[in-house]
Amino acid sequence: MTTPRFLVTSALPYANGPLHLGHAAGAYLPADIFCRFERLRGNDVLFICGSDEHGVAILMRARKEGVSPQDIVDRYHERIRSAFERFGMSFDWYGRTSSTIHRETSARFFETLADKGSFVLRSEEQLYDPEAGLFLADRFVVGTCPKCANPNAYGDQCESCGTSLSPSELIDPKSTLTEATPVLEETTHWYLPLGAHQEELAKWIDSRTNWKPTVLGQIKSWMSDGLADRAMTRDLPWGVPVPANVAARAGVDATGKVLYVWFDAPIGYVSATREWAEQRGDPDAWKDWWQNDETRLVHFIGKDNIVFHCLIFPLMLKLHGDFVLPCDVPANEFLNLEGQKLSTSRNWAVWLDEALDAFPADYLRYALCAIMPETKDSDFAWRDFGNRINNELADTLGNLVHRCVTFGVRTFDGVVPELTSPSDVDLEALDLLAHTTRAVAEKIESYKFREALTEAMNLARHGNKYFNDGEPWKTKKSDKERCANTIHVSLQIVASLSVILEPFLPFTCGRLRSMLGIGPLRSAGVPEGIGWNDAARPLLQPGSPITEGEPLVPKIEDAAIEEQLTKLESASRAARSANDPASESLPYAPLAPEITFDDFAKIDLRVGRVIAAEKMKKSKKLLRCDVDLGFETRQILAGVAEHLSPEDLIGKTVLVVANLAPRPMMGTESQGMLLMAEGRRGDLAPTTADQEPGAPVR
Ligand SMILES: [Zn+2]
Repeated sequence: MTTPRFLVTSALPYANGPLHLGHAAGAYLPADIFCRFERLRGNDVLFICGSDEHGVAILMRARKEGVSPQDIVDRYHERIRSAFERFGMSFDWYGRTSSTIHRETSARFFETLADKGSFVLRSEEQLYDPEAGLFLADRFVVGTCPKCANPNAYGDQCESCGTSLSPSELIDPKSTLTEATPVLEETTHWYLPLGAHQEELAKWIDSRTNWKPTVLGQIKSWMSDGLADRAMTRDLPWGVPVPANVAARAGVDATGKVLYVWFDAPIGYVSATREWAEQRGDPDAWKDWWQNDETRLVHFIGKDNIVFHCLIFPLMLKLHGDFVLPCDVPANEFLNLEGQKLSTSRNWAVWLDEALDAFPADYLRYALCAIMPETKDSDFAWRDFGNRINNELADTLGNLVHRCVTFGVRTFDGVVPELTSPSDVDLEALDLLAHTTRAVAEKIESYKFREALTEAMNLARHGNKYFNDGEPWKTKKSDKERCANTIHVSLQIVASLSVILEPFLPFTCGRLRSMLGIGPLRSAGVPEGIGWNDAARPLLQPGSPITEGEPLVPKIEDAAIEEQLTKLESASRAARSANDPASESLPYAPLAPEITFDDFAKIDLRVGRVIAAEKMKKSKKLLRCDVDLGFETRQILAGVAEHLSPEDLIGKTVLVVANLAPRPMMGTESQGMLLMAEGRRGDLAPTTADQEPGAPVR
């Protein structure tokens, strides 16, 4: 049997802004866990990524800032690249699509398809901004979505319903550059006739039975609408120029024409592999991956990229003829932030590099893996993050390591003690090593990273229980041999964890292995290193030295979490006021998911009269209110002080959530909640009701 070869890609990040945690959890962390795991198993892995540096949005940003598009991509390429490095992404190569190799590779790819007659040349009238002197492709034009009536749909896609669009389909289009109403002008472009290939694509998709149901579901819904032909070129001053010889043969003036960003971006995976090959002095080595039937090509992406990775790029590869097709596209859903959709324009985001300034990479990796949006959207909240690190990672893994290493160092002269006549309990604990290695492997292979992490942490939980039940602090006096066995087995558990958790927590595991004297790990350069299967058996030799290091998982202080929350709020408020001139077009928060009548009926809403209100000491946000509910008076702490003064509330009859569980806050308790209406700028107004206190609201 030949060694499986995995060519793994993560979606090319778009170089017009920094990465946020949603990106990290969507296309990057899962790919990195997968690659680290497969390398440990001894499989051949090539992990490729790079910055996507073309397209309209970069040009728009450059125009807005009065700099060149190259300035924009240089800035963000570097910021993204270094954030990835600090996050522990183990790319074999991180390229960029403004490189010479990429321009050449994608131009040649385009030429091959053109020579094979894969494109259809089409002249038609397109939207043109007479003020800017530009055709308005993609994001240069907004209008109303013909499908869902979202008034801010882009020329290539409606982000509200996900439909892919062409600019001429928009209702009431407007230029985003000049606000001008565009006019129609004639232009010629190369189209990829997706419609003509639909049947062939459908057959191929039907053979992908192992793909995630969420991914297949989305593809099939587009298929049932019928695939529309897509232009693969644009009239733009930024991008890979349409090859002059192709244009000449077609009798088209290629001036000002470039490849569509979604044509050239996925070819970026190929050109990044070529750069990797060049750099190791073997320029043709990329072919061993891209043009080798043994290769399993796996694209890790977010769900917004499914159409390009599951239909358009595979069709391009198929039409070219020399390339493998993707073996799997395990797309993730979206990550929300504190219960709201992430939004870069509203600055409702946590930037990866800034999060890495505040917390160790492994804390972010752990928390993001635990909530990874594998099958549905999930939510990142800072307080959950703090709890997860302190109550799970520190209390379980950190604690186990600390206890058994300290014991080994202080009671057994800094070496791993012997295992002598082990009990059934000892042997059962050692059996867990093989069980866990197998279970985690199965989960990672099926892209269930959350469950994989749970399985791995369960070994640490069992380790703690085993250690507690063994009571080595007692047996060290009464039965030294039993004590030695307990410490021996606990250390073996920790040793295996330093390998099993490596794909998830590479920095922590590296430190742990150096405390235990384990290493190095298996990799392409170190084929004889410690591998995945070694973790299924005891790794440590009795008598081998161990050392106490710095605490493995220091706890996070509450203040550090509160600081992040304050930062998020103030950045988003700043974005709101920066956007203020256009605040009339600021979107309201999207509608929450549908609930049943029974869900609603659980909420007991009452009319309450605010009889007293005052600012809370040491709090910028809270007002302390006494609220008369008719049958009793409640103390309610309302987070409204930045918008309302006590006088705005005193005497008002307002709506109160009366059956909300009391919440401890600022050393006291809030016994309910006042309902407020929030304006577009985040301003608040009390809801009022013309009824006696205590009246139910239905
Ligand atoms: Zn729509």
